[in-house]
Amino acid sequence: MTDIIQLLPDHVANQIAAGEVVQRPASVVKELLENAIDASATEVKLIIKDAGKTLVQVIDNGKGMSVTDARLSFERHATSKIKSAEDLFQLNTKGFRGEALASIAAIAHVELKTKLADDELGTAIEIEGSKVKSQEVSVTPTGTSVAVKNLFFNIPARRNFLKSDTVELRHITDEFHRVALAHPNIAFAFYHNGSELFHLPSENYRQRVVHIFGNKTNEKLVPVEEQTEVLKISGFVGKPEYSKKTRSEQFFFVNQRFIKSPYLNHAISAAFEGLLKDGYHPSYFLNLTVDPKTIDINIHPTKTEIKFDDEHTLYAILRSAVKHSLGQFNIAPVLDFEHQGQLNTPYSYKDKVASTPAIDVDKSFNPFADDTNTTKQTSQRTSFKQAPTASWESLYVGLESKGNKSENDFSEVTFESDSKTESLFGDASVDASKTTFQLQQKYIVSTLKSGMLIIDQNRAHQRVLYENFLKHITIKEATSQQLLFPLQLHFTPNETQIITNLKTDLEHTGFVFSKVSDEDITITGVPVGVPESEVSIILEQLISDVESDVPDANFSATDLLAKSMAKSLAIKNGQGLNHTEQEHLVNSLFACKEPNVSPTNRPTFITLGIDDIEKKFM
Ligand code: ADP
Ligand code: MG
Repeated sequence: MTDIIQLLPDHVANQIAAGEVVQRPASVVKELLENAIDASATEVKLIIKDAGKTLVQVIDNGKGMSVTDARLSFERHATSKIKSAEDLFQLNTKGFRGEALASIAAIAHVELKTKLADDELGTAIEIEGSKVKSQEVSVTPTGTSVAVKNLFFNIPARRNFLKSDTVELRHITDEFHRVALAHPNIAFAFYHNGSELFHLPSENYRQRVVHIFGNKTNEKLVPVEEQTEVLKISGFVGKPEYSKKTRSEQFFFVNQRFIKSPYLNHAISAAFEGLLKDGYHPSYFLNLTVDPKTIDINIHPTKTEIKFDDEHTLYAILRSAVKHSLGQFNIAPVLDFEHQGQLNTPYSYKDKVASTPAIDVDKSFNPFADDTNTTKQTSQRTSFKQAPTASWESLYVGLESKGNKSENDFSEVTFESDSKTESLFGDASVDASKTTFQLQQKYIVSTLKSGMLIIDQNRAHQRVLYENFLKHITIKEATSQQLLFPLQLHFTPNETQIITNLKTDLEHTGFVFSKVSDEDITITGVPVGVPESEVSIILEQLISDVESDVPDANFSATDLLAKSMAKSLAIKNGQGLNHTEQEHLVNSLFACKEPNVSPTNRPTFITLGIDDIEKKFM
């Protein structure tokens, strides 16, 4: 038999490699900007046409290249940045693979112009699909200009795969932000289709953040500075009241390289613990400096993930540094989110008939069974009557007319229930022998024969929803409601990956996906009782929960999904509940398998016995 193995021709190998390096115009932007920085430029200009589909050009005033280097720079594995494997552990440059220019030249028309400072004349090279079209002497300023035109001209499939200009431009802007934030001392300008989007002079870090994210950002920034033997931290976190529903203002830079690290992100969230509203994410712009020997940036082809030698120590230092800053700037004590007027109520399903699925109520269940015998008698009183429709959806119903509380009425103890919230059930809910009331729109209080029961409404509802979702996911039957118009949501490829992994489970809760592609998700059905307006929040919450979940051996995607959805959808504190709703929540809670703790293992209710009360009067 004849031999069949051949070496791939260079241009084919380059095209294949290009697939990894260049996913979209934004990847070209990243590589070219990084090359400019590696060349010690102090001024960098980015010029884009048609969201990079027609042109991506970067002009720098860096050190430039000699004639030979200019030609060599397009060879694969041609790099001036490392010479031996040891150099990999001392990296001070962005690039080191020597792959970017070769890859880009394999799939686009590239024009390079470059000149060394000491030379009179520079070099101009044109390459199309790895073929050198021309190379000549050129009059050009010191530095380098690389123009990349007609990206993917020879790979139509990839070209067709590009998203709308809006989406591609957003990716480019993201890359630009990352590079510009990592290098505030370098001046940047960014033009799209002839108009200037950013003009950033050389400046300090605070000014850079403000220039990029707007003047209002200034007042939100709390400085974080910390220096230890292994790590230097500098930068800012956003004050908690400016936290966002998206993660668009979260930036970690390690040795001036943008990275993503769910683990370190978790450290920041931990520092903000208790200061953020549910579903909100802190802003941060943090620069970490570590010895290059202690990191490995090699584990990810596009290099936004890195591996630290001692992640646990970094976690601890980072958390305490951020906590310290928040404390020092006196943020922690003055905050009281629970009582801000503007809590959003997603539950506007007033006119919906709430029916299936029903909760299986164990009538003989006694929530206080393992308590003392005094409480035992209590449950005999059946103060928790079974509501007519024992379905969790009905907890959503009629909850929209809230938010009319004055901001300071929480300073006094108010007993509020029916009067402030309209009831869906109308007069039917008027109940003379009312046995529950709401305290500070946060707790449901009920009298027991032997004392008092105080339920945390948010945690209780989380427990109820959590068990329901778990049940639906495991028995694989849930009712979904068809959306009138399909809902299209945009995510990053990473995020859609997370959703894809959980797709089957999500479907079991009632979601119907018509399309899940790289960055778009189209939803045509949602679980019964979940308002359309909440869908993106639920999914974002889910993604962030998955991302910030510190993986451990007990990780279960199903459990996390149920927890996350329960958290997103549970009745919030600050929400008025009428009497029927209160009763229903109480009933549903005690129909749960584990009524006494929330999905995150915190108590859902406490009891105060007559004895305890009597003691207080002694
Ligand atoms: P890498 O950055 O990984 O070395 P690239 O393909 O991006 O690989 O670049 C190859 C080489 O070309 C670089 O190592 C550098 O020597 C040179 N080069 C690329 N861009 C520039 C630039 N803007 N200014 C000066 N030299 C450059
Ligand atoms: Mg490079």
